Amino acid sequence: MATKNEKIALNKIAKLGCILCSEVLGIEGGSAAELHHVRRYGSVRSTSPVLPLCPEHHRGNSGVHGLGTKGFENKWGVTYEELLERVSQKLGKANK
Ligand SMILES: [Zn+2]
Ligand SMILES: [Zn+2]
Repeated sequence: MATKNEKIALNKIAKLGCILCSEVLGIEGGSAAELHHVRRYGSVRSTSPVLPLCPEHHRGNSGVHGLGTKGFENKWGVTYEELLERVSQKLGKANK
């Protein structure tokens, strides 16, 4: 179960919109994002980091679940870690 604070934080991330559309493709104000939970093997943290992705880039043929992690990173030339970094940068701006 997510705590109330976690839910608020996840909502903020979803509201950023698709991180791939905005940061990699340069499309601002894209469709509402779904949250993709990034699994880090060996991580002891109970909350996994999340990426906001539009339905296509989440579940579509060009998305993380369609391509798999490596395929996704190769296709778009960006790693999960880079995208997570962009998310936290955007969140920092949004909180100001
Ligand atoms: Zn997208
Ligand atoms: Zn997912």
